[in-house]
Amino acid sequence: AKGNGRNCVALFDIDIQRRAQEHLARATGLRGALANGEIEPHYQPIVNLGTGRVVGVEALARWRTSSGELISPDTFIALAEEIGLIEPLGQHILRTACRDALVWHQASPAPFMLSVNVSPRQFASGDFASMVLTALADTGFPATCLHLEITESALMNEPSVKTTMGELRKHGIKFAIDDFGTGYSSLSSLRRLPVDILKIDKSFVSGITTNAQDRALITAAIDLARSFGLTAIAEGVETQEQLRELTGLDCDLAQGYLWSRPVAAEKVADVMENVGKI
Ligand code: C2E
Ligand code: CA
Ligand code: CA
Ligand code: CA
Repeated sequence: AKGNGRNCVALFDIDIQRRAQEHLARATGLRGALANGEIEPHYQPIVNLGTGRVVGVEALARWRTSSGELISPDTFIALAEEIGLIEPLGQHILRTACRDALVWHQASPAPFMLSVNVSPRQFASGDFASMVLTALADTGFPATCLHLEITESALMNEPSVKTTMGELRKHGIKFAIDDFGTGYSSLSSLRRLPVDILKIDKSFVSGITTNAQDRALITAAIDLARSFGLTAIAEGVETQEQLRELTGLDCDLAQGYLWSRPVAAEKVADVMENVGKI
């Protein structure tokens, strides 16, 4: 038994070592990818349910490897946060997205909104506000058309977060609470943080036609948005039935595969044209 125990310890060490090596390899790979321009935003249209028109896009990071494979942010954003790469990565996504969206903004008769996801880690870094303002100044994208999407986390309790948000809001930048209704973004963030938009999580939208509780939650979130003077955006709309329900509840805006998956910048103009036909 003793011998076995020692073997186990030895195997465990090897396992830890192997995992540490894998982690290092993935970290090195991600750093290289950012340096080589393999990380880029894709865009999903956001639709006004009253008019049926595209009012803007959400930028969603993608990693296109040299072999052409597209890697989802769920697998690399957490790693970027862990290895201290989220700040340059987030800056790169923001600057690229502002440059791309300026073209759509200029072609649009109405203001064209760009929504960018921000990690709580970025907020906690001292110079987040000046990074954002510099990106806007360098690209010419209007501050009043930029939305920043945040999820609640322990970091959002830092007093500096409120100060940073206040400074950016002075320039007309708007803030959205992402994944609203999930454990990560809840009612208390509404009271604590100065926000303009609620993004209703897709896990509730997917149950809107089948689950009374999901439907009740969406109804409550839309009512809450209205009484707080906020805009409600439903995420993850995939079917006409879901769209009908949300329209019936007077939800302002929505996004989802029903209109389009996130697409590369060069496909956005085509997608915008097609959305009007749904
Ligand atoms: P999120 O911000 O909640 O983004 C919504 C996710 O839902 C996206 O996944 C989007 O592709 C997906 N989605 C959109 N419509 C539908 C639909 O109709 N059905 C279904 N099933 N899914 C839909 P994605 O692009 O894989 O992004 C995952 C998460 O990664 C995002 O969740 C966000 O939290 C994070 N993320 C993405 N880009 C960035 C970034 O640039 N910075 C940071 N910090 N986080 C990012
Ligand atoms: Ca988001
Ligand atoms: Ca979300
Ligand atoms: Ca999410």
